[in-house]
Amino acid sequence: MVPEAPAPRSGIPPPDNAHLRDARDLAREQGVDPRTGLHDDEAAQRALQHGANELQDHSRRGPLALLADQFKDFMVLVLLGAAIVSGMVGELTDTLVILVIVVLNAVIGFVQAWRADQAMAALRQLAAAHATVLRGGEVQVVPASVLVPGDIVLLEAGNQIPADLRLIEIAQLQVDESALTGESVTVAKQTDALTGDAPLALGDRVNMAFKGTTVTHGRARGLVVATGMHTELGKVAALLDTDDRSTPLQRRLAAFGKRLALAVLGICAIVFVVGVLRGEAPLLMALTAISLAVAAIPEALPAVVTVLLALGARRMVAINALVRRLPSVETLGSVTTICTDKTGTLTQNRMHAELLLAQGQRWTPGDPLPSAVHAETLRAAALCNDASHQGAHDEDDGHTHVPATWLGDPTETALVLAAHAGGFEKTELDAAQPRVQEQPFDSGRKRMTTFHKEGAGFVAYTKGAPESVLPRCTAQWTPDGSAPLDSASVLASADALAAQGLRVLALARRNHPRLPDTNAIDAVESQLELLGLIALIDPPRPEAKAAVRDCITAGITPVMITGDHPATARAIARRLGIVGSSDAPVLTGVELAELDTATLAQRVEQVRIYARVDPAQKIRIVEALQARGHFVAMTGDGVNDAPALKRADIGVAMGKNGTDVAREASSLVLLDDNFATIVAAVKEGRRIYDNIRKFVRYAMTGNSGEIWTIFLAPLLTLPIPLLPIHILWVNLVTDGLPGLALAAEPAERGIMQRPPRPPTESLFAGGMWQSILGIGLLIGGLCLAVQAWAIATGHAHWQTMVFTVLTLSQMTLVMAIRSETEPLWRLGLASNRPLLGAVLLTFALQMATIYLPWLNPIFKTEPLSAAELGICLAAAMVVYVVVELEKAWRRNRRPAAMAPDEPPA
Ligand code: ATP
Repeated sequence: MVPEAPAPRSGIPPPDNAHLRDARDLAREQGVDPRTGLHDDEAAQRALQHGANELQDHSRRGPLALLADQFKDFMVLVLLGAAIVSGMVGELTDTLVILVIVVLNAVIGFVQAWRADQAMAALRQLAAAHATVLRGGEVQVVPASVLVPGDIVLLEAGNQIPADLRLIEIAQLQVDESALTGESVTVAKQTDALTGDAPLALGDRVNMAFKGTTVTHGRARGLVVATGMHTELGKVAALLDTDDRSTPLQRRLAAFGKRLALAVLGICAIVFVVGVLRGEAPLLMALTAISLAVAAIPEALPAVVTVLLALGARRMVAINALVRRLPSVETLGSVTTICTDKTGTLTQNRMHAELLLAQGQRWTPGDPLPSAVHAETLRAAALCNDASHQGAHDEDDGHTHVPATWLGDPTETALVLAAHAGGFEKTELDAAQPRVQEQPFDSGRKRMTTFHKEGAGFVAYTKGAPESVLPRCTAQWTPDGSAPLDSASVLASADALAAQGLRVLALARRNHPRLPDTNAIDAVESQLELLGLIALIDPPRPEAKAAVRDCITAGITPVMITGDHPATARAIARRLGIVGSSDAPVLTGVELAELDTATLAQRVEQVRIYARVDPAQKIRIVEALQARGHFVAMTGDGVNDAPALKRADIGVAMGKNGTDVAREASSLVLLDDNFATIVAAVKEGRRIYDNIRKFVRYAMTGNSGEIWTIFLAPLLTLPIPLLPIHILWVNLVTDGLPGLALAAEPAERGIMQRPPRPPTESLFAGGMWQSILGIGLLIGGLCLAVQAWAIATGHAHWQTMVFTVLTLSQMTLVMAIRSETEPLWRLGLASNRPLLGAVLLTFALQMATIYLPWLNPIFKTEPLSAAELGICLAAAMVVYVVVELEKAWRRNRRPAAMAPDEPPA
């Protein structure tokens, strides 16, 4: 009976003595029955009182702070100062126009930062944790944020604990509390109330489980006593918030930007001094030099890189790849080896029982059961099983029968369904013979055991990998007593089934007059009586084969690491094309354990399949691969995978079937647990990196063009080609929209046919530097040539012409650098519509500054004649033609890198 619910206390301070109280008393006080949990409406009610179970994020900046950031740049402040001074001595319009441009610049910067922030917030939202909770008698998986005090939470190995819990029921529960206490030893938990007056340290409150810590072993049921900022984690949350969110690329760019800024400042100083010496007005020269510095110092590069990465990360969600750490977006393209799990990633994880083999007799679901041994095997499969019932009722209204759905590991749900096919309902068996004790499954041991009441004593059912269970069996079980067991022949049958790609489990039982001591459970998994083998089929994912092929053409080696049997692993690997022959080498966990580091490092170059590996060994494989210079992506889903996920260059966790611990340790989460998604993410990573390179190339070439123009003019005895307003305008219209539109540039053709980029390779690799300086010089040269010609031929509009050439040549430049190798006509103008739109808009704005009479005085421009405009357009087209020629030269120079069908050795 549900005890009557006293209204939960509002004001909300959680009990700080929960560890001293009896768990059931606390539950009663919270108005909840630990067997059924809160009702949904009660939970909703409490959520209003207690708020969301979330920690406050102190690092997110509000819009005002973001906007203010845009004005903090030193050069912008100098420019503002100079504009005000110039307004005081000269024309007020100058000041106003400069102010407007600075504000527009800030708005663009703000919009970029805002979009990046929004994209990141959306990603964090998606990555938010979930919790398994008991509500109204049903097991539900809910976002951890909706938990309220009084909720009953179910925990299992791999869960991140979603709130502070008073433990009510546990089975071998061990918790890693290092996130909270710094203590790296896992803590074994208990449920009894603690005693004593002295305040206990968190680590000593062994009947509590704290938010943010993780379950490493066992299972439990706990009562939520504190949520959100009231949890122990919440109390220290402010201290934890030291996440450095900049990526290596951003840091390198920022450092590089600082050095470049010094160089630009040097150039600006020279421009100023030379100008003044030639008799120009010092104020004009100061403003020119400052404008040039503002335009040419790439202070915005790291910010724009963030935007490109964040927008890219958001796009990756659409292909089911959730990025948890931004830097991995830029490094994905460098992956040379993908180490992947088999079950669920390469296969569908939609298991079903193919057959049951007991005492040499086969049973397939659908047929009548041949013997009592088969029946007992199915009973064992259903009882020694952690699958839980969802929507826990079969309704039989006489017409419709609502089948139960099962929540849990696909291996286990497949077994429940097999038992059902043989006439055994797990719900009924559980009710008749509830589990009284257990030794949970663990992928190191590869087996699990549960204890149930039977007659006057108890029965223990064990299930697991045949090599793990059979050595513990001494006889064959029959209803009439033990029969002799031929282990070798059973093992041979298991191997034969595995070689067909099936997953085989052995089931066994043993009677116990008394329940063994919890500490000795491991030891009692011996002298078992074998029941039978169950073979499960888990078909490969249909898309995995093509993804494996794509990997290989992209110079990436796919490697399978599985806890499954070597024969099963090889059969699947062969079907997917990971290995070509049926005698491909397989390294097992046992063999691996015997290899020293140096030998392993040699073996990893040949081995594509690792079987019966326990997760702790994955880290050795990663390290060996890294020692050979590989850049490794590694998938994982379990608690024990976390160290290898952290160690890998890109840790990849499963979003559907993975544990919270694995997700926390990874930088990429596959929302569909699919291998093909990793390959798609690598492709996307390469595309994003390419686009960052394109943006940097574009922005810096433009800047270099501006510098060459202003710097070289006096050396060629030409007057200052551009006024400050022109420089600022060019900077505004060219860097703003067209630059960002490069984020929408589709992947280059052949992007997955080129080898991975070395992770240490500079962003400017492949002659980008030379190109930036060279094409910049070309732009500067064209501006000055037009200026010299116009002056020589008496065109009074020479300054407007230089201004126009500079803007338009950046437009032709951005169209030309859309691909590093392919000509624009093959890409097609429409394949990046945002860019086309941005270029057309910029062109229109430029025409407005020239031809709208009221803008002429502001921009100090004069309308150009058709011939003059034609000359400007022609000069700008020269830039396009030269960049296309440069690309053609590059195409011819490295045909090998682009050859599509040549898989790298
Ligand atoms: P992968 O590493 O590719 O995901 P896996 O799922 O086979 O493969 P584990 O979950 O570590 O890896 O399982 C290892 C072995 O343990 C399995 O091959 C199976 O024999 C056994 N096993 C798996 N699940 C269970 C279970 N629920 N109960 C008992 N034994 C199991």
